[in-house]
Amino acid sequence: MGIREQIRQALEADAASVCNLHAQHDAGHEVLDFLAGYGAISLGHNHPDVRAAVEEVLQARPPQFLLVAAQPLAAELARRLAELAPGGLDLCFFASSGSEAVEGAMKLARLATRRPRFVSALRSYHGTTLGALSVTGSERHRRPFQPLLSGAVFVPFGDAGAVERELRRRDVAAVLLEPMQGEGGMRPAPDGYLPEVARLCRRYGALLVLDEVQTGLGRCGRMFACEEEAVEPDVLLLAKGLSGGIAPISALITRRGLWERAYGTLDRYDLHCSTFGGGAVACAAAIATLEVIRRDGLVEAAARYGGYLREKIAAATAGHPLVREVRGRGLLWGIDLDAPAGGMGEDLVGQWLVVGMLERGVLTQVCADATGVVRVQPPLTVTREAIDRFALALQQTLAEHATGRWSSVAAAAARAVRSRAARAFG
Ligand code: PMP
Repeated sequence: MGIREQIRQALEADAASVCNLHAQHDAGHEVLDFLAGYGAISLGHNHPDVRAAVEEVLQARPPQFLLVAAQPLAAELARRLAELAPGGLDLCFFASSGSEAVEGAMKLARLATRRPRFVSALRSYHGTTLGALSVTGSERHRRPFQPLLSGAVFVPFGDAGAVERELRRRDVAAVLLEPMQGEGGMRPAPDGYLPEVARLCRRYGALLVLDEVQTGLGRCGRMFACEEEAVEPDVLLLAKGLSGGIAPISALITRRGLWERAYGTLDRYDLHCSTFGGGAVACAAAIATLEVIRRDGLVEAAARYGGYLREKIAAATAGHPLVREVRGRGLLWGIDLDAPAGGMGEDLVGQWLVVGMLERGVLTQVCADATGVVRVQPPLTVTREAIDRFALALQQTLAEHATGRWSSVAAAAARAVRSRAARAFG
């Protein structure tokens, strides 16, 4: 069998037994994706302009990974990102995942400041590699892998005074924050918090690293969520939506002076590098993605449709006994559920809603570190009709509780757990 046939066959393999989603697909039902690969599928699956850009690269056959010099597409992408990024952020380092971008920021901060410690927030999520995990404010994620990096401390998100208490010791290399906590349950920073932390970092000589892996590139109704309060970090991290969902790529954007302070000597210039960072295909996909976002006004659309989505979620959840709160920005929302008294735990109540939605043809998922919070993050290309369909499915699923069809809950949750486990091990 030819290689193309082998790929086609692998793509067509029957996955129905391991995943509800595939089962629905195979049965010819459309699935509305309001998870969007945790935000990676920012332009919807296989956007034609991003595919065309990738095809162009494959046709042109440039060296895919040059390494001894900047790949031309990486240089072009860096130029465009530097233009978009706030303040004087003018240097990009590319890698393949959000976690790697966080690692890069931590290493940069240690070398540039010659200081050891990191401050991050409780309930934060910065990734799965050991450094990024060390600054992730979730006991459940960290504990099994201890000992992790020493010198990482956690403060309550939103409490600038707690950050200052740590900074006063003048041994903090960086404060790492998400402008809106994602995996911790979709929690926007309180007003004034980020500008105050930025001021404190400048005062005490620590770097401010903003992890916009999830919130960046239009997701929150701004190109970068930190623009909402005009905060200029020392390091801005992007990943997920950067390539429109086609190829893995992340970016660390900082000031050239900082990078040079860290790595600007002969014995240090190569202490941080990445074999696959800045590859031609991923960079072409990212350039196309930025261009589609600009050309189609997707940042403004995220703000506009975000307002509509907020209204529809509010209407579908209003007064429901299981819904504690609805939080978010732009096209990134969380429905915070209350486990009903005398039974189901928070994990199950989240999965109950997720499975109910999937059974109505809408894909969502819970947050990694807040399993009672169901995330709502459609592609930036979402339409009003799609939001209406989502809202109807939400209302119908929640209504199951009101009409006493509560017995479906345990079975639905069990199906969800089975499909999750199958995906993890299958
Ligand atoms: N930072 C944030 C804010 C994230 O949401 C995530 C992933 N959910 C990461 C870092 C890690 O990204 P990746 O999974 O690509 O390593």
